Amino acid sequence: MRKKIMTTLVFMLFIPIAQYADAADKSSEEIYEERMSLYTKMETVTQIPWYWLAGVDAYEKGLRRARNDREEAKGVINIYYSPKEWSGPLNPKLDEDDPTAISMFDGLGLDGNGNGKASLEEDADVLFTFANYLAEFGFDDTNIKLGLWEYYKRDQAINIITGHARTYRKYGTLDLDEHAFPVPLNYNYSYQSTWGDTRGWGGRRIHEGTDIFAGYRTPARATSYGVVELKGWNKYGGWRLGIRDLTNTYHYYGHLNGYEEGLEKGDIVAPGDTIGYVGSTGYGKPGTEGKFPPHLHYGMYRDNGYSEWSFDPYPSLKSWEKAERQ
Ligand SMILES: [Zn+2]
Repeated sequence: MRKKIMTTLVFMLFIPIAQYADAADKSSEEIYEERMSLYTKMETVTQIPWYWLAGVDAYEKGLRRARNDREEAKGVINIYYSPKEWSGPLNPKLDEDDPTAISMFDGLGLDGNGNGKASLEEDADVLFTFANYLAEFGFDDTNIKLGLWEYYKRDQAINIITGHARTYRKYGTLDLDEHAFPVPLNYNYSYQSTWGDTRGWGGRRIHEGTDIFAGYRTPARATSYGVVELKGWNKYGGWRLGIRDLTNTYHYYGHLNGYEEGLEKGDIVAPGDTIGYVGSTGYGKPGTEGKFPPHLHYGMYRDNGYSEWSFDPYPSLKSWEKAERQ
């Protein structure tokens, strides 16, 4: 019964919205605007705060990027359902969009825009299906996290989504794509592409990052919007810090001389914020330093929903540096 009432409400809200046009034809401003409008309308209908929907959608966008078994979203919403989940496990019609048939086969797909179809290709249908699922648990943060846990069955998924949601809520916008180079451009620094090189210390390891050589106490800065996920000592990385950005990418800073005062795990950072200072810590017990010249070890890791792997940060560093110089 509740679903029926909600669907009618959605119908009233979505009348003026046309079906998706190709996301590729739109500017990023238009995409953000359209997404935000979908999130806020869905909040009105389901009472799930828009920033939670934005957090889930951003997480799922990152998963699509990190996995090769999911194609890019056709619309502006990135939440993924397989045709089987959507239409029902035993439904022989994988592109089923009749809500009654989907429900008969225990599929998840719902009609969010009230056009009589529950289509995987309609943003409002996909977003409504997810928001409606979450609403079954309740509308406050604790219940939403419970719903997310039941859905993803993975602590790290909840952590990442919660970080995204908090960041969107803080800034009140989806337009958080800005980047900064990890050290201020007016300091002396140098770096080369060294990702994948072999390492001498601590057994056979490959170099999972780019070393940016700079003087002691050169500021180390956040390169994107994100949340501090890790802070502390490690025998390889010394004083290190990790930031999770809105694409689920993890940015790792190693060998720091120290941290920016007051910065704690869980804090939200913006590109250009000082997070610590370049040093030469690591390769031993806490406090060990000076075993190599001071540099910032900068690593980037992608998350695919069950594991994480390092990729070469050099191209990103080059492009952020170039953008900042202009
Ligand atoms: Zn390094």
